[in-house]
Formats: sequence, C-alpha cells, structure tokens
Amino acid sequence: MNAEIYYRRIVGILQPARLQNTRVIVVGLGSGGSRIAIELGRIGVELVLVDLPNERVEEHNIIRFPLGYPVLGQLKNEAVASHLRDLNPASRVTTVNLDVTTQQKEFLALVRSVSPQLIMVCVDNEPARHCINECAVAAGVPQVAGGVYDGGIGGEVTIASPQAACYACIADHLQLTRQAPVKPRSIDYNNLDVAEIQSTCALNLDIEQIALIQARIGLHILLAGDPDLTGIPRTVNLCVFCNRPLTGDVVLGRPLHCEFFSVPRDPECLVCGASSTTVSSEANRILHALEAQAQHTATVNPTE
Ligand SMILES: [Zn+2]
Repeated sequence: MNAEIYYRRIVGILQPARLQNTRVIVVGLGSGGSRIAIELGRIGVELVLVDLPNERVEEHNIIRFPLGYPVLGQLKNEAVASHLRDLNPASRVTTVNLDVTTQQKEFLALVRSVSPQLIMVCVDNEPARHCINECAVAAGVPQVAGGVYDGGIGGEVTIASPQAACYACIADHLQLTRQAPVKPRSIDYNNLDVAEIQSTCALNLDIEQIALIQARIGLHILLAGDPDLTGIPRTVNLCVFCNRPLTGDVVLGRPLHCEFFSVPRDPECLVCGASSTTVSSEANRILHALEAQAQHTATVNPTE
C-alpha cells in the first residue's frame, strides 16, 4: 500500500494525517453502524467496533447489511473489521463483544481505556442509548447518535457534548415536546418473523442516508471543525432529516431536507445536571448502609 497514492483523492478536502491520532468507538454494527465504520475507517480513523456477544449476520440482515452473502453467519463487527482491512490495509480496527445494557461497567472501563475522541451510537433501542450516554458523560466523551424513523420516512441525529446537553437531556426534551413520527405499517400476519417485526422497517438507503449525516457530523467533530465539513452552528445538537414532507408532531414541509435544533441542557438532568452528583452520592450512601446492614446481619446470624 502506497499511502500517498491511496489518500491522493481526498487531500483537497482534509489532511489524512490529522486523523492519525483519532479514535472512535462505534456501538452497534447494523447497517447504519457498519456504513459509519467503513466511511471513517477507510480514511484512517482508528476504530473500536462494539457489538452484542454473538451478533451475527443473518439472512434477513443481508438486504441492508453492506457486505452481502459472503459474510453470512459471521460476527457483524468482525466482518466489518475484515472488510476495512481490505479497503485500507493500514486501518487500525479492533472488535469488542459486549452488551452495553447488561455490561455497563465493562463498557465504561472500555471507554476509559480506549479514551476515544468520539462515540458513535448506532444501537436500535433507547435503553442502550441511555446506558452509553451515562458512560460517555462519566468519561467526558462526545457522542453522536443516529435513529431512523419507522417506515424510512426520515430520521434524526443527536450530538451530545461534555458541558452541553447530554443524550438524556435531548431525549427528555423530545419526549416533552413531541413524539417521534411513526408511520403505522402493515404486518403480514401469515408470515410472522419476530426479528423483522422488532426491527425498524426501512430501506437500506433510508438508513444509510441518516448514517452518512451522522458520519459527516462525527468527522466534523474529530477535525474540531477545521475544515468546516458541515457549516452547522456549534449550538445545534439535533438534526432531523425527512425523505418526504412530515406532518403531525414534527412538521417538515420540504422533502429531502434537514432541520436543525438546539436543545438546552437540563440543569436538573439526572445524568449530566447538578442533581446527578446528589443522586450518585445518595445511591452510594444507600449502598453503604445496605452493606453495613448485611455485615451486621451476617455477624448476628452466622451461617456456620
Ligand atoms: Zn443531561
């Protein structure tokens, strides 16, 4: 591999050397996370690809997963890592399999040891997003999260930075002000497939459209805005993209259009606000009291 020739077509936009010391954790290697990993990894960003234990490419994934039948049955993060090494032999990519919701401590330890400049949140459920948010806030790492609306009508990208609104602030704000637009879908009850029903109904191009916006914003953060790849004001932390005009709680009149919002930090947020310290010290106090009680009980009622 001749790096000078390899990077020749992008040096008019950014200096690849600037990405040499950047590290990103990508959580969730579905179709969106895979696309993001591929786009960042091929230009030299170091990646740690985190997915659930035993999360493998199944046949119903193939229509949206970028690597097709050759990787059927493989772990998704391993398949993407291997593809990245083909695309860019100098790419620095490792894989970790853990469940961020049930192994939050391990995930926090991983974030602290990797010390990434950014976490790309590409999971498909809210509990996982909140678990990642808590770890990112504790470690002081920015996060960019993407979500696709059911029916592929659009999606949103959120940006959570230390010292600004965290994902919990943004999610709370959205819950109070609107419901995410959801298009009812018709389910073929004669051919029930649990995995398909639970997963968002969208075309690959619907998902990749949001993933590419997420990747672009992430790259913009990694380069600290130099060059300015998005032109989005610093205060923006929510981008809503629609493929076609939306009505209802969110009204977006123009198709193929992005709207930008600045959600304020909630000073009372339990994750990043002033009360978070109170909540965590209160939790510690209760924990210590319970431990002391358990020790006392064990002394009073010895089991042997
Ligand atoms: Zn918060």
